[in-house]
Amino acid sequence: MKREIKYIVVHCTATPTTATIEAIKNYWKNNLKWKNNGYHYIIQRDGTVVNITPENQIANGVAGYNQHSIHMSYIGGVDGNNKPIDNRNDLQKEAMFNLIMKLHHRYPNAEIKGHRDFPNVHKACPSFDVKQWLKEYEPSVLQAA
Ligand SMILES: [Zn+2]
Repeated sequence: MKREIKYIVVHCTATPTTATIEAIKNYWKNNLKWKNNGYHYIIQRDGTVVNITPENQIANGVAGYNQHSIHMSYIGGVDGNNKPIDNRNDLQKEAMFNLIMKLHHRYPNAEIKGHRDFPNVHKACPSFDVKQWLKEYEPSVLQAA
């Protein structure tokens, strides 16, 4: 199935930073009874990007927009009291930036947004301002070389 991608969407898992991808997938399947994963990519604490859903398939990231979205999420996004916090480490920031650039190259017309930037979303996800961060972020020189 060929999809038209209009949105590259950034999320947080809103879990403890120690959460595993297996546990997150089990939660979708067993607690939420979802048939699909919530994201296409998960960025682990060590900066590893794991592709859990092929890009031509739909993931359940933002209700009403999934047909036209690619979803990525970093593990983290809440503190010990479940309050939103941008607790991405440097490895995750770099991996996220590189993944966004790669997807932006693949889908040049897609808008890059945070989950909370969609209409009627009452969540803090991904716990930071994506557009502002992209303006300010300075990728490592080594990475770019
Ligand atoms: Zn989200």
